[in-house]
Amino acid sequence: MKYMIGVDIGTTSTKAVLYDLKGNVKQSANSEYQLYQTEPEMAEEDPEEILAAVIEVLQRVVQGAKLNPGELQGISFSAPMHSLILVDHENKLLTRAITWADNRAAKYSKELLAQGVGQQIYAHTGTPIHPMAPLSKIIWLRNEKKDLFQKAAYFIDIKTYVFYQLFHVYRMEYSLASATGLFNIFTLDWDEQALAVAGIERSQLPKLVSPTASIQGLAEIYCKAIGISADVPFIYGASDGVLSNLGVNAIDPGVLAVTIGTSGAVRTVLDHPVVDPQGRLFCYALTKDKWVVGGPVNNGGIVFRWVRDQLFAPEKTPVKQLQVPTYEALTQIASEIPAGADGLLFHPYLGGERAPLWNADARGSFFGLTRQHTRAHLVRAALEGIVYNLYMVVLMIEKVSGKPTRIQATGGFAQSELWRQILADVFEQQVTIPASFESSCLGAAVLGMYSLKLVDSLNVVKKMVGVTHVHTPKAENFAVYRELLPIWIRLAHAVSPEYSAIAAFQRKHLKAK
Ligand code: ADP
Repeated sequence: MKYMIGVDIGTTSTKAVLYDLKGNVKQSANSEYQLYQTEPEMAEEDPEEILAAVIEVLQRVVQGAKLNPGELQGISFSAPMHSLILVDHENKLLTRAITWADNRAAKYSKELLAQGVGQQIYAHTGTPIHPMAPLSKIIWLRNEKKDLFQKAAYFIDIKTYVFYQLFHVYRMEYSLASATGLFNIFTLDWDEQALAVAGIERSQLPKLVSPTASIQGLAEIYCKAIGISADVPFIYGASDGVLSNLGVNAIDPGVLAVTIGTSGAVRTVLDHPVVDPQGRLFCYALTKDKWVVGGPVNNGGIVFRWVRDQLFAPEKTPVKQLQVPTYEALTQIASEIPAGADGLLFHPYLGGERAPLWNADARGSFFGLTRQHTRAHLVRAALEGIVYNLYMVVLMIEKVSGKPTRIQATGGFAQSELWRQILADVFEQQVTIPASFESSCLGAAVLGMYSLKLVDSLNVVKKMVGVTHVHTPKAENFAVYRELLPIWIRLAHAVSPEYSAIAAFQRKHLKAK
């Protein structure tokens, strides 16, 4: 038998899954690590802990599967976008990995946009100007951590760090590079203007390679630790976002991948890079002829969690005795309320928002309350509001990619029949919930198989991804949503001039407490 391992280096854990060439799972392992948040807006990880987790999960999978020599064809990698690590001239770490969730560079992305240079750079790089991306982070470090910035010989990401430890060369595949804000998606090279604005040289960045590139000659200590020979190829792979599109079988034109987990995202694939005239969509590479276009959304299932924990937990009960109702109980009561929640609208911006607004000051609101509305209406309106917001992102994507024809949806939300149906009804599209295990790991494994010519196209993924649920839009429901959506969208624009004022009040008030 032939096998491939997909490794997904995540923000809170690393997973490895061993697949056969048909995509069946033979073995898997997961190892968690800490997120460091010792100052406001900080979100860092320890690269050494992550390297240890990668080695541990590989060892557990290889040894657990009891493979015969020669059966393991390769190991292929997915990693989070936007991480940044500074390394000195002796290749020693100067920083931890500063992750996408770290917002300390916010001031500098605002400045880039205010000066207009941000829009120019976005037009070549396809990475929205935001503190998530290394471009803004490097400017922040240059201004506020001068010592570190001056000592830095290399600016790398977490996957480059892991591969450097294993193979002693700095290389970055252009899928992850395309999410740095420093990479020109039209020339497939580092962007001169972005480098100049960041204040770094191209020699301080890793050499660029294709996501399908591979490397052999694993350092001996890791061969022993994992239990493999040095000639097993390691495929560089791509970013978790684009590999998740591949892993849920959403790489054909017209297919949208929608995720509602803690956060959310909408993504589709085009055969060429595109940018949004207003800088609101990302465009990241999967391969040279597959570009993933879409928007990341902060306010996904975390908003439903807030509804459950803050609106439905009995008040003034000692924490240990809290009887928090389950998501199932809440979706049950919400399912008794008609589509459109009798005209109650909810903007889900509890955590600021990236796409579609790109406004960290955005705040949530219920609109249209009457005495007839009950708590069940609040739940239904919240579930619907999260989906309306994703639909606003779809309207932007449609302008560059045309109308979607099919939706593949994933994430914790898919456990709710009601929420899945709301998605189909609001989007007026058939929604399929795929049955794939760890979509970014599967995406990495399939890209690895393609790289090693074990399969002749990425489309083999179609046969690997099963289906758990299919929902078709219900005419009576989408008629209601068609009436409400324009109001919801107009309202989002109408209240947005007040977001900064209320956010400033909240910051002042919270600080004073
Ligand atoms: P992550 O993105 O962190 O991996 P998940 O994909 O597991 O998270 O999604 C978690 C979210 O899924 C929760 O915040 C909640 O909103 C939603 N969720 C989980 N279980 C249910 C359920 N049974 N019904 C509806 N929503 C659910």
